Amino acid sequence: MTERDVMEFDVVVVGGGPAGLATAIHLANLIEGHNAAVEKAGAGTPLKPEICLIEKAAELGNHSISGAVMDPKGLDALLPGWRTMEPKCPVEAEVHDDYAMWLTATGGMRFPITPPPLKNHGNFVVSLNKLVKWLGAIAEQKGIQIFPGFPGAKLVRDGNKVIGVQLGDSGVDKHGAQKGNFQAGGILQGKLVVLAEGSRGSMTKQLVADLKLDGQNPQVYGIGVKEVWEVPKGNCAPGLVVHTMGYPLDSHTFGGGWIYGMGETEGGKNLLSIGLVVGLDSRDPTMDAHRQLQRMKLHPKIAPFLRGGKMLHYGAKSLPEGGLYSMPKNFGDGFVLVGDSAGLMNSMRLKGIHLALRSGMLAAATAVQCLQKGDFSAAATGAYWQSMQADWMHDELRKCRNFHQGFHKGRLAGLINGAFAQFFGGKGTLWSDNLKSNAGHTYMQKVGPYFGGKGKPQLDKLAEDGVLTFDKLTSVYSSGTLHEEDQPCHLVVTQPDLCSTRCVEEFGNPCQHFCPAAVYEMEPKAGSKHGIDLKINASNCVHCKTCDIMDPYQVINWVTPEGGGGPNYTNL
Ligand code: SF4
Repeated sequence: MTERDVMEFDVVVVGGGPAGLATAIHLANLIEGHNAAVEKAGAGTPLKPEICLIEKAAELGNHSISGAVMDPKGLDALLPGWRTMEPKCPVEAEVHDDYAMWLTATGGMRFPITPPPLKNHGNFVVSLNKLVKWLGAIAEQKGIQIFPGFPGAKLVRDGNKVIGVQLGDSGVDKHGAQKGNFQAGGILQGKLVVLAEGSRGSMTKQLVADLKLDGQNPQVYGIGVKEVWEVPKGNCAPGLVVHTMGYPLDSHTFGGGWIYGMGETEGGKNLLSIGLVVGLDSRDPTMDAHRQLQRMKLHPKIAPFLRGGKMLHYGAKSLPEGGLYSMPKNFGDGFVLVGDSAGLMNSMRLKGIHLALRSGMLAAATAVQCLQKGDFSAAATGAYWQSMQADWMHDELRKCRNFHQGFHKGRLAGLINGAFAQFFGGKGTLWSDNLKSNAGHTYMQKVGPYFGGKGKPQLDKLAEDGVLTFDKLTSVYSSGTLHEEDQPCHLVVTQPDLCSTRCVEEFGNPCQHFCPAAVYEMEPKAGSKHGIDLKINASNCVHCKTCDIMDPYQVINWVTPEGGGGPNYTNL
């Protein structure tokens, strides 16, 4: 049995993204306010909790990526003086102009009016990894103990009660043997564990399954793929926001594209962000979000934005798109879920940062109540969900509660459903109050019916030119992704025989397509039923979790690799 160091904390936050950092910052602020009040009144008990935050990336922000146009509502609540704070909050540009386009295969048109959910005046184009680094510095100043490079491997539980987090081991070779530099992951005991792992967090997934926390609908996800380009001035004004619908996606696939003008860096580079969100409930077993983004960039309405430019960065992440009724129960004995881990995203507006920040604040307020009472049971942590239901974030989520699900009836029906919800402010719905849906992977059609039916393969010829379009390996290089090569594979295929047998026949090995980082490859293998078998290039993984979500047999389990491994996002 491996001996593990044990450290005791009052609150352990897992994940250094916007939700986790907002929890930590607001908790520190509330404790400071409480203690000042106690001192002033000369009565009451001051609070001196030990708070830590762990993050699997080598540095805060390295794994943080978002669209990202931020609604400032969340930051206004967390740090009301953020616009004038020093050091300056790293927003790229304030949005001054926005429009939406409908794209056909060869042309397109600008919508006469921008659909209200896509109006962005007053919002800010940001780089999430820069914003996260800035928030991290504030949290550290406030005395939060931040441990980057430490992944959570599993939750420590006493029955249904979460009592801590076991950190991942390091120094284990690819066969599972300890190397000379082996270090057993310690155990961080916590009275309250705040799960801020992001979308499809590995420990959150396990907890939701074990404690049956799923909402009325299972969560459905999308994948966002994104590039940041340096382009000549004049191609895209700073603060311009363009959303696209239609091409390159077919009418059965949820999603849309964007171009955001990020403005000029200190070094004089004029940047824009371009990306595409694709629903992870596509019927098409060959759906490949990276490839679709390459196709989108060739479109005559899009290519001019990039002309004369250079791709600098690439990244991908999954997004919890299911909305209000897909949110898991977000509290229990000794834990709360925040941000993407709690399924907090407005898919109609393609925004989640403000909800992540706000959920962190509400979790922090609950943590203070729990600390005061010395009670961390579900009866006490339930105050988090109660406060969320009374908050503006719940109203916002209610308005878009069936948005993604509406697209399961086709694109036109989905758009009408979205317009209806917008018009009636979420009070009425086109169908039922809760439009039922299934887990995204169940919508994938088998190769025979898909290609024999109305399905068109997305594998039309695309010769990447290395200027405007790129193959996946070039893109992965631009994500800065690195992992220790000699470690156990963090993509655990629980039934590997399926890959070279049933999956070849039924789905054509869709992992080759849906992974945006060329991790999965079918290579020749003598003696296997179809002459091929799965090869996993785990070191390419950008931690998007798409495989864990979209695998049709649900036999891929994404677990945390050795600390510090993964993408190194900058400007994304
Ligand atoms: Fe994403 Fe899975 Fe590919 Fe990693 S292996 S990049 S988590 S799809």
